[in-house]
Amino acid sequence: PRLANQIAAGEVVERPASVLKELVENALDAGAGNIDVDVEQGGVKLIRVRDNGSGISEGDLPLALSRHATSKISSLEDLEAVGSLGFRGEALASISSVSRLALTSRTEEQEAASRVEVEGRDMDARLSPAAHPVGTTVEVRDLFFNTPARRKFLRTEKTEFGHLEECLRRQALGRFDTGFTLRHNQKVVQSLRPAPTQLDRERRIGALCGQKFIDNAVVIDAEAIGLRLWGWVALPTFSRSQADLQYFFVNNRVIRDRLVAHAVRQAYRDVLYNNRHPAFVLYLEVDPATVDVNVHPTKHEVRFRDGRLVHDFIFRTLHKALADVRP
Ligand code: ADP
Ligand code: MG
Repeated sequence: PRLANQIAAGEVVERPASVLKELVENALDAGAGNIDVDVEQGGVKLIRVRDNGSGISEGDLPLALSRHATSKISSLEDLEAVGSLGFRGEALASISSVSRLALTSRTEEQEAASRVEVEGRDMDARLSPAAHPVGTTVEVRDLFFNTPARRKFLRTEKTEFGHLEECLRRQALGRFDTGFTLRHNQKVVQSLRPAPTQLDRERRIGALCGQKFIDNAVVIDAEAIGLRLWGWVALPTFSRSQADLQYFFVNNRVIRDRLVAHAVRQAYRDVLYNNRHPAFVLYLEVDPATVDVNVHPTKHEVRFRDGRLVHDFIFRTLHKALADVRP
């Protein structure tokens, strides 16, 4: 089974950033209000994610590391409207098969925390008592230490850290209610308090996407026919160094979609006569029953039940918002 995990890991775990994504999603699924991320050497040496979520009980700890052990889905119907981010029950098993993984956790009901450690394809999980507040810490050390071929594909520390930062940026843009910290080689790189108000949110956007973006952005917020679109679109006065600053979230999940991209660009072009790719951070809220989320872990695709409706709503909303501010 551990070998199967390693093979599965090939699909999910490509680089440190893919590990981070899974760990942060688990923390969010556990209802964490704060997530602290520590990485060393671009995440190759260490990725540690600490959360103050619900925790895992001692009895469930070893289970959390076994393949297809997910606490998030109990029926096929659940698959229809997947609210939680993870539901395949493969991430921890896969990650632990290509690293040295330690899981420390405590639930509210437990007096003390416990810790479980696994290493590579070694089946035996060692369980021991530990000190930890309510919540969970997952430590992933020496990624790909036992799969040298995979390790060879890793890039420089700087490049891998760039991917980690991008991963955290997406998570932090998607969850204003959660606080995040990111440390690289023990230095704080990003520190984001939960952002309940519009001002807090703009501050977070500034920290993640640059103050220039927010200074040049039009605020979007519109609701109709059961859809809501809100966020920020930068005017052409925003000259970015970043190649593309385009984040579109559907129900908190970052996606890439041609239909959506088209609607945004079309509105931008029609109003501003500008052919550049607009920079934006946008959030679409829809009834989960009207959208299918691609279940593949590395893709970010959606299929809307009524794509045309969604396209037109996005187009019209942005068209109006941009036309209102056009000089
Ligand atoms: P999935 O997220 O698809 O269920 P994972 O392998 O990512 O699968 O996690 C396995 C299980 O471990 C989860 O279903 C959850 O019960 C538990 N778990 C993992 N991380 C956490 C966490 N940070 N807090 C609470 N429970 C967790
Ligand atoms: Mg998961």
